[in-house]
Amino acid sequence: MSVRVALLTKDQLDRLPARSRQVVEYRKSGLSLNHIQGCPLDCAYCIRHTYGLWDERQPRAIMTDEAAVEELVGHRYFTPHVTPIQLFNRATEPFLPAVRPHTFAVLEDLDARGLTNHVLVITRHSLKPEDADRLNQLRSLKVTLLFTYSGIDDPKIEPYPSAVAAASLKLMSAPAQRKYRTVLYWRPLVPGLNDSPEHLDTAFQLAAHADATVFTGLFYRNEIADYYRANGLPEPYEDTARRKIVPETLEARVLSRFGTQSPLFRKTSCAVSYAHGLPDYNGHYGIRELCDICPLGQLVRCKSAYRVPAADRIWKTAQAVPEARGVVVTDITERAAVVSGLATEQPRYYLQHALGFQVHDIRHPHHERRHGRADIGWKGGNHND
Ligand code: SF4
Repeated sequence: MSVRVALLTKDQLDRLPARSRQVVEYRKSGLSLNHIQGCPLDCAYCIRHTYGLWDERQPRAIMTDEAAVEELVGHRYFTPHVTPIQLFNRATEPFLPAVRPHTFAVLEDLDARGLTNHVLVITRHSLKPEDADRLNQLRSLKVTLLFTYSGIDDPKIEPYPSAVAAASLKLMSAPAQRKYRTVLYWRPLVPGLNDSPEHLDTAFQLAAHADATVFTGLFYRNEIADYYRANGLPEPYEDTARRKIVPETLEARVLSRFGTQSPLFRKTSCAVSYAHGLPDYNGHYGIRELCDICPLGQLVRCKSAYRVPAADRIWKTAQAVPEARGVVVTDITERAAVVSGLATEQPRYYLQHALGFQVHDIRHPHHERRHGRADIGWKGGNHND
Protein backbone atom coordinates (compact mmCIF):
# COMPACT_ATOMS: atom_id res chain seq x y z
CA MET A 1 0.00 0.00 0.00
CA SER A 2 1.51 3.33 -1.02
CA VAL A 3 1.96 6.22 1.41
CA ARG A 4 -0.40 9.10 0.73
CA VAL A 5 -0.55 12.56 2.17
CA ALA A 6 -3.09 13.60 4.82
CA LEU A 7 -5.99 15.92 4.04
CA LEU A 8 -5.81 19.32 5.75
CA THR A 9 -8.43 19.93 8.40
CA LYS A 10 -10.76 22.90 7.98
CA ASP A 11 -8.77 24.87 10.59
CA GLN A 12 -5.47 24.18 8.83
CA LEU A 13 -7.04 25.12 5.52
CA ASP A 14 -8.33 28.42 6.90
CA ARG A 15 -4.82 29.30 8.06
CA LEU A 16 -3.31 28.94 4.56
CA PRO A 17 -2.56 32.19 2.70
CA ALA A 18 -5.51 33.02 0.41
CA ARG A 19 -3.57 32.63 -2.83
CA SER A 20 -2.29 29.19 -1.96
CA ARG A 21 -5.85 27.97 -1.34
CA GLN A 22 -6.43 28.44 -5.06
CA VAL A 23 -6.01 24.88 -6.31
CA VAL A 24 -6.19 25.71 -10.04
CA GLU A 25 -4.18 28.69 -11.26
CA TYR A 26 -2.96 29.75 -14.68
CA ARG A 27 0.82 30.05 -14.89
CA LYS A 28 2.83 30.85 -17.99
CA SER A 29 3.34 27.36 -19.33
CA GLY A 30 -0.07 25.97 -18.42
CA LEU A 31 -3.05 25.63 -16.11
CA SER A 32 -1.54 24.48 -12.86
CA LEU A 33 -3.10 21.99 -10.43
CA ASN A 34 -1.83 22.22 -6.85
CA HIS A 35 -4.09 20.46 -4.38
CA ILE A 36 -1.05 19.12 -2.52
CA GLN A 37 1.26 21.63 -0.90
CA GLY A 38 4.40 21.34 1.18
CA CYS A 39 7.90 20.12 0.42
CA PRO A 40 10.92 19.19 2.56
CA LEU A 41 13.62 19.67 -0.11
CA ASP A 42 14.37 23.31 0.86
CA CYS A 43 15.75 24.73 -2.41
CA ALA A 44 16.58 28.31 -1.37
CA TYR A 45 15.06 29.81 -4.54
CA CYS A 46 11.77 27.85 -4.27
CA ILE A 47 8.67 29.60 -5.61
CA ARG A 48 6.89 28.55 -2.36
CA HIS A 49 8.45 31.66 -0.79
CA THR A 50 6.18 33.83 -2.92
CA TYR A 51 3.02 31.93 -1.91
CA GLY A 52 3.65 32.22 1.83
CA LEU A 53 4.23 28.47 1.94
CA TRP A 54 7.92 28.22 2.74
CA ASP A 55 7.34 26.81 6.22
CA GLU A 56 5.03 24.06 4.92
CA ARG A 57 7.59 21.27 4.71
CA GLN A 58 5.16 18.37 5.11
CA PRO A 59 3.05 17.70 1.99
CA ARG A 60 -0.68 17.86 2.75
CA ALA A 61 -3.76 17.73 0.56
CA ILE A 62 -6.32 20.50 0.26
CA MET A 63 -8.79 18.08 -1.33
CA THR A 64 -8.93 14.57 -2.77
CA ASP A 65 -7.42 13.79 -6.18
CA GLU A 66 -10.89 13.10 -7.60
CA ALA A 67 -12.20 16.48 -6.46
CA ALA A 68 -9.07 18.24 -7.74
CA VAL A 69 -9.38 16.72 -11.21
CA GLU A 70 -13.06 17.71 -11.32
CA GLU A 71 -12.11 21.25 -10.38
CA LEU A 72 -9.45 21.33 -13.10
CA VAL A 73 -11.55 19.98 -15.98
CA GLY A 74 -14.56 22.03 -14.89
CA HIS A 75 -12.53 25.24 -14.65
CA ARG A 76 -13.52 28.15 -16.89
CA TYR A 77 -9.95 28.26 -18.25
CA PHE A 78 -9.85 24.58 -19.18
CA THR A 79 -10.40 23.53 -22.78
CA PRO A 80 -10.25 19.77 -23.43
CA HIS A 81 -7.34 18.76 -25.70
CA VAL A 82 -6.01 22.36 -25.82
CA THR A 83 -5.08 23.78 -22.41
CA PRO A 84 -1.60 22.70 -21.30
CA ILE A 85 -1.68 21.39 -17.73
CA GLN A 86 1.05 21.59 -15.11
CA LEU A 87 0.88 19.21 -12.19
CA PHE A 88 2.22 20.10 -8.71
CA ASN A 89 4.63 22.73 -10.06
CA ARG A 90 4.11 25.38 -7.42
CA ALA A 91 4.00 23.96 -3.95
CA THR A 92 5.36 20.42 -3.78
CA GLU A 93 7.57 17.90 -5.59
CA PRO A 94 5.47 15.43 -7.61
CA PHE A 95 7.72 12.42 -6.98
CA LEU A 96 8.20 12.69 -3.23
CA PRO A 97 7.30 9.20 -1.95
CA ALA A 98 4.05 10.42 -0.38
CA VAL A 99 3.09 12.59 -3.36
CA ARG A 100 3.89 10.08 -6.12
CA PRO A 101 0.60 8.10 -5.77
CA HIS A 102 -1.33 11.36 -6.16
CA THR A 103 0.67 12.30 -9.26
CA PHE A 104 -0.23 9.00 -10.88
CA ALA A 105 -3.84 9.15 -9.70
CA VAL A 106 -4.31 12.54 -11.38
CA LEU A 107 -2.56 11.50 -14.60
CA GLU A 108 -4.56 8.29 -14.81
CA ASP A 109 -7.87 10.04 -14.14
CA LEU A 110 -7.20 12.64 -16.86
CA ASP A 111 -6.05 9.95 -19.26
CA ALA A 112 -9.11 7.78 -18.61
CA ARG A 113 -11.21 10.74 -19.82
CA GLY A 114 -9.50 10.46 -23.22
CA LEU A 115 -7.93 13.91 -22.88
CA THR A 116 -4.98 14.67 -25.16
CA ASN A 117 -3.76 17.84 -23.42
CA HIS A 118 -0.09 18.41 -22.72
CA VAL A 119 0.75 17.66 -19.07
CA LEU A 120 4.03 19.03 -17.73
CA VAL A 121 5.49 17.38 -14.63
CA ILE A 122 8.57 19.12 -13.22
CA THR A 123 10.74 17.06 -10.89
CA ARG A 124 14.18 16.83 -9.33
CA HIS A 125 13.45 13.66 -7.38
CA SER A 126 14.68 10.12 -7.72
CA LEU A 127 12.55 8.20 -10.22
CA LYS A 128 12.29 4.43 -10.57
CA PRO A 129 11.92 1.97 -13.47
CA GLU A 130 8.33 1.32 -12.29
CA ASP A 131 7.58 4.99 -12.92
CA ALA A 132 8.45 4.55 -16.59
CA ASP A 133 6.27 1.41 -16.78
CA ARG A 134 3.32 3.22 -15.25
CA LEU A 135 3.66 6.30 -17.45
CA ASN A 136 3.80 4.02 -20.47
CA GLN A 137 0.30 2.75 -19.63
CA LEU A 138 -1.17 6.19 -20.36
CA ARG A 139 -2.97 6.26 -23.68
CA SER A 140 -3.94 9.78 -24.65
CA LEU A 141 -2.25 12.50 -22.54
CA LYS A 142 0.93 14.11 -23.86
CA VAL A 143 3.11 13.85 -20.77
CA THR A 144 6.48 15.59 -20.46
CA LEU A 145 8.80 15.06 -17.51
CA LEU A 146 11.01 18.11 -16.98
CA PHE A 147 14.06 17.37 -14.84
CA THR A 148 15.20 20.41 -12.88
CA TYR A 149 18.97 20.42 -12.96
CA SER A 150 21.23 23.31 -12.01
CA GLY A 151 24.63 21.83 -11.19
CA ILE A 152 24.71 24.11 -8.10
CA ASP A 153 26.84 22.41 -5.49
CA ASP A 154 26.28 24.76 -2.55
CA PRO A 155 24.10 22.72 -0.15
CA LYS A 156 22.84 25.92 1.47
CA ILE A 157 21.19 26.86 -1.82
CA GLU A 158 20.26 23.41 -3.03
CA PRO A 159 20.36 20.82 -0.23
CA TYR A 160 18.87 18.13 -2.49
CA PRO A 161 21.66 17.51 -5.03
CA SER A 162 21.26 18.07 -8.76
CA ALA A 163 22.98 14.71 -9.33
CA VAL A 164 19.69 12.99 -8.41
CA ALA A 165 17.82 14.80 -11.16
CA ALA A 166 20.60 13.97 -13.62
CA ALA A 167 20.34 10.25 -12.77
CA SER A 168 16.53 10.36 -13.06
CA LEU A 169 16.73 12.05 -16.45
CA LYS A 170 19.05 9.34 -17.73
CA LEU A 171 16.90 6.55 -16.30
CA MET A 172 13.62 7.87 -17.67
CA SER A 173 15.09 8.77 -21.08
CA ALA A 174 16.69 5.35 -21.60
CA PRO A 175 13.73 3.20 -22.78
CA ALA A 176 13.68 3.12 -26.59
CA GLN A 177 9.89 2.99 -26.62
CA ARG A 178 8.07 5.37 -24.35
CA LYS A 179 4.82 7.33 -24.34
CA TYR A 180 6.17 10.32 -22.40
CA ARG A 181 8.93 12.79 -23.28
CA THR A 182 11.87 14.04 -21.24
CA VAL A 183 13.29 17.56 -21.02
CA LEU A 184 16.45 18.73 -19.30
CA TYR A 185 15.14 21.76 -17.41
CA TRP A 186 18.45 23.51 -16.86
CA ARG A 187 17.81 26.12 -14.21
CA PRO A 188 18.36 28.33 -12.41
CA LEU A 189 21.48 29.51 -14.22
CA VAL A 190 23.19 32.10 -12.03
CA PRO A 191 26.38 33.97 -13.02
CA GLY A 192 29.32 33.05 -10.81
CA LEU A 193 27.49 30.14 -9.21
CA ASN A 194 26.91 27.47 -11.85
CA ASP A 195 28.10 28.92 -15.15
CA SER A 196 31.76 27.87 -15.25
CA PRO A 197 32.98 26.12 -18.45
CA GLU A 198 32.86 22.83 -16.49
CA HIS A 199 29.24 23.45 -15.48
CA LEU A 200 28.32 24.18 -19.10
CA ASP A 201 30.16 21.05 -20.29
CA THR A 202 28.36 18.84 -17.78
CA ALA A 203 24.96 20.21 -18.79
CA PHE A 204 25.83 19.70 -22.45
CA GLN A 205 26.70 16.02 -21.83
CA LEU A 206 23.49 15.54 -19.88
CA ALA A 207 21.43 17.14 -22.64
CA ALA A 208 22.36 14.26 -24.94
CA HIS A 209 20.03 12.01 -22.91
CA ALA A 210 16.94 14.24 -23.08
CA ASP A 211 14.49 14.79 -25.93
CA ALA A 212 15.09 18.54 -25.56
CA THR A 213 16.75 21.06 -23.25
CA VAL A 214 15.51 24.40 -22.01
CA PHE A 215 17.71 26.81 -20.07
CA THR A 216 16.54 29.62 -17.89
CA GLY A 217 17.53 31.88 -15.04
CA LEU A 218 16.42 32.69 -11.54
CA PHE A 219 13.15 34.18 -10.37
CA TYR A 220 14.72 36.60 -7.91
CA ARG A 221 11.63 37.99 -6.24
CA ASN A 222 11.51 40.07 -3.08
CA GLU A 223 10.50 37.17 -0.83
CA ILE A 224 13.38 35.05 -2.16
CA ALA A 225 15.87 37.91 -1.76
CA ASP A 226 14.69 38.35 1.86
CA TYR A 227 15.34 34.67 2.52
CA TYR A 228 18.83 34.87 0.97
CA ARG A 229 19.70 37.87 3.16
CA ALA A 230 18.26 36.38 6.35
CA ASN A 231 20.28 33.21 5.86
CA GLY A 232 23.55 34.81 4.80
CA LEU A 233 23.41 33.26 1.30
CA PRO A 234 25.44 34.95 -1.44
CA GLU A 235 23.05 37.29 -3.25
CA PRO A 236 23.14 36.66 -6.99
CA TYR A 237 21.86 40.12 -8.00
CA GLU A 238 21.62 43.57 -6.46
CA ASP A 239 18.02 43.90 -7.51
CA THR A 240 14.88 41.78 -7.80
CA ALA A 241 12.66 41.32 -10.85
CA ARG A 242 9.21 40.04 -11.78
CA ARG A 243 10.63 37.95 -14.62
CA LYS A 244 13.38 35.35 -14.80
CA ILE A 245 16.90 36.75 -15.05
CA VAL A 246 19.25 35.53 -17.80
CA PRO A 247 22.10 37.98 -18.42
CA GLU A 248 23.08 38.52 -22.06
CA THR A 249 26.68 37.29 -21.76
CA LEU A 250 25.57 34.12 -19.99
CA GLU A 251 23.09 33.34 -22.75
CA ALA A 252 25.81 33.85 -25.37
CA ARG A 253 28.11 31.40 -23.59
CA VAL A 254 25.38 28.77 -23.31
CA LEU A 255 24.53 29.05 -27.01
CA SER A 256 28.16 28.85 -27.99
CA ARG A 257 28.71 25.68 -25.91
CA PHE A 258 25.65 23.93 -27.35
CA GLY A 259 26.11 24.96 -30.98
CA THR A 260 23.67 23.01 -33.14
CA GLN A 261 24.45 19.62 -31.69
CA SER A 262 21.61 19.29 -29.23
CA PRO A 263 18.07 20.74 -29.40
CA LEU A 264 18.13 23.74 -27.08
CA PHE A 265 15.31 26.20 -26.36
CA ARG A 266 14.80 29.43 -24.49
CA LYS A 267 11.17 28.71 -23.68
CA THR A 268 9.67 25.78 -21.80
CA SER A 269 6.70 25.47 -24.15
CA CYS A 270 9.07 25.33 -27.16
CA ALA A 271 11.04 22.44 -25.65
CA VAL A 272 7.88 20.55 -24.67
CA SER A 273 6.21 21.07 -28.05
CA TYR A 274 9.34 20.05 -29.95
CA ALA A 275 9.68 16.90 -27.87
CA HIS A 276 6.19 15.86 -29.00
CA GLY A 277 6.71 16.89 -32.63
CA LEU A 278 4.17 19.72 -32.35
CA PRO A 279 4.26 23.49 -32.94
CA ASP A 280 4.84 25.70 -29.90
CA TYR A 281 1.57 26.05 -28.01
CA ASN A 282 2.51 29.52 -26.75
CA GLY A 283 2.87 31.02 -30.24
CA HIS A 284 6.45 32.16 -29.68
CA TYR A 285 7.08 31.89 -33.42
CA GLY A 286 6.06 35.54 -33.77
CA ILE A 287 9.01 36.58 -31.58
CA ARG A 288 11.38 35.78 -34.43
CA GLU A 289 14.66 36.16 -32.56
CA LEU A 290 13.59 33.38 -30.16
CA CYS A 291 13.72 30.87 -32.99
CA ASP A 292 17.30 31.39 -34.15
CA ILE A 293 18.47 28.31 -32.22
CA CYS A 294 15.56 26.05 -33.16
CA PRO A 295 15.99 22.89 -35.30
CA LEU A 296 14.86 23.50 -38.89
CA GLY A 297 12.07 20.89 -38.87
CA GLN A 298 10.56 22.53 -35.81
CA LEU A 299 10.74 25.98 -37.39
CA VAL A 300 8.76 24.66 -40.35
CA ARG A 301 6.17 23.11 -38.00
CA CYS A 302 5.70 26.34 -36.05
CA LYS A 303 5.59 28.44 -39.19
CA SER A 304 2.83 26.38 -40.75
CA ALA A 305 0.72 26.53 -37.57
CA TYR A 306 1.26 30.27 -37.09
CA ARG A 307 -1.76 32.57 -37.60
CA VAL A 308 -2.01 36.24 -36.62
CA PRO A 309 -5.52 36.60 -35.16
CA ALA A 310 -7.81 39.48 -36.07
CA ALA A 311 -8.93 41.81 -33.24
CA ASP A 312 -12.50 40.49 -33.33
CA ARG A 313 -11.26 36.91 -32.86
CA ILE A 314 -9.26 37.97 -29.81
CA TRP A 315 -12.28 39.79 -28.44
CA LYS A 316 -14.62 36.83 -29.07
CA THR A 317 -12.18 34.39 -27.42
CA ALA A 318 -11.99 36.69 -24.40
CA GLN A 319 -15.77 36.63 -23.92
CA ALA A 320 -15.56 33.00 -22.71
CA VAL A 321 -14.08 34.07 -19.35
CA PRO A 322 -15.55 36.89 -17.26
CA GLU A 323 -12.23 38.46 -16.22
CA ALA A 324 -11.14 38.79 -19.88
CA ARG A 325 -14.36 40.36 -21.17
CA GLY A 326 -13.07 43.90 -20.74
CA VAL A 327 -10.05 43.29 -22.97
CA VAL A 328 -9.06 46.11 -25.31
CA VAL A 329 -6.77 45.20 -28.20
CA THR A 330 -4.45 48.17 -28.67
CA ASP A 331 -2.16 46.74 -31.33
CA ILE A 332 -1.62 43.57 -33.37
CA THR A 333 1.69 42.90 -35.09
CA GLU A 334 3.36 39.81 -36.53
CA ARG A 335 4.95 39.37 -33.08
CA ALA A 336 2.08 39.70 -30.64
CA ALA A 337 -1.24 41.27 -29.74
CA VAL A 338 -0.89 44.07 -27.19
CA VAL A 339 -3.89 44.37 -24.88
CA SER A 340 -5.15 46.30 -21.89
CA GLY A 341 -8.07 45.71 -19.55
CA LEU A 342 -6.91 42.41 -18.00
CA ALA A 343 -6.68 42.65 -14.22
CA THR A 344 -4.20 39.77 -13.79
CA GLU A 345 -1.83 37.59 -15.81
CA GLN A 346 -4.12 34.55 -15.74
CA PRO A 347 -6.62 35.61 -18.44
CA ARG A 348 -3.67 36.67 -20.59
CA TYR A 349 -2.29 33.12 -20.47
CA TYR A 350 -5.76 31.81 -21.28
CA LEU A 351 -5.92 33.98 -24.40
CA GLN A 352 -2.40 33.04 -25.43
CA HIS A 353 -3.10 29.32 -25.31
CA ALA A 354 -6.58 29.58 -26.84
CA LEU A 355 -5.18 31.59 -29.79
CA GLY A 356 -1.74 29.95 -30.06
CA PHE A 357 -0.42 33.50 -30.33
CA GLN A 358 1.51 35.81 -28.01
CA VAL A 359 -0.65 38.25 -26.07
CA HIS A 360 1.23 40.98 -24.18
CA ASP A 361 -0.08 43.32 -21.54
CA ILE A 362 0.52 46.97 -22.40
CA ARG A 363 1.72 47.52 -18.81
CA HIS A 364 4.58 45.02 -19.17
CA PRO A 365 6.21 45.59 -22.56
CA HIS A 366 8.42 42.83 -23.94
CA HIS A 367 11.75 44.10 -25.26
CA GLU A 368 13.27 42.78 -28.46
CA ARG A 369 15.85 40.01 -27.86
CA ARG A 370 15.04 39.76 -24.14
CA HIS A 371 12.30 37.20 -24.71
CA GLY A 372 10.07 38.13 -21.80
CA ARG A 373 12.96 38.07 -19.38
CA ALA A 374 14.04 40.64 -16.81
CA ASP A 375 16.11 43.64 -17.93
CA ILE A 376 18.86 42.86 -15.43
CA GLY A 377 22.09 41.98 -17.22
CA TRP A 378 21.01 43.34 -20.63
CA LYS A 379 22.41 46.50 -22.18
CA GLY A 380 20.09 49.41 -21.46
CA GLY A 381 18.12 47.43 -18.86
CA ASN A 382 16.36 49.59 -16.32
CA HIS A 383 16.41 47.00 -13.53
CA ASN A 384 12.77 47.61 -12.78
CA ASP A 385 11.18 44.90 -14.82
S1 SF4 B 1 10.27 27.66 -34.11
FE1 SF4 B 1 10.36 29.25 -32.56
S2 SF4 B 1 8.36 29.12 -31.56
FE2 SF4 B 1 8.66 27.19 -32.63
S3 SF4 B 1 9.55 25.81 -31.11
FE3 SF4 B 1 11.22 26.77 -32.29
S4 SF4 B 1 11.82 28.50 -31.01
FE4 SF4 B 1 9.79 27.89 -30.34
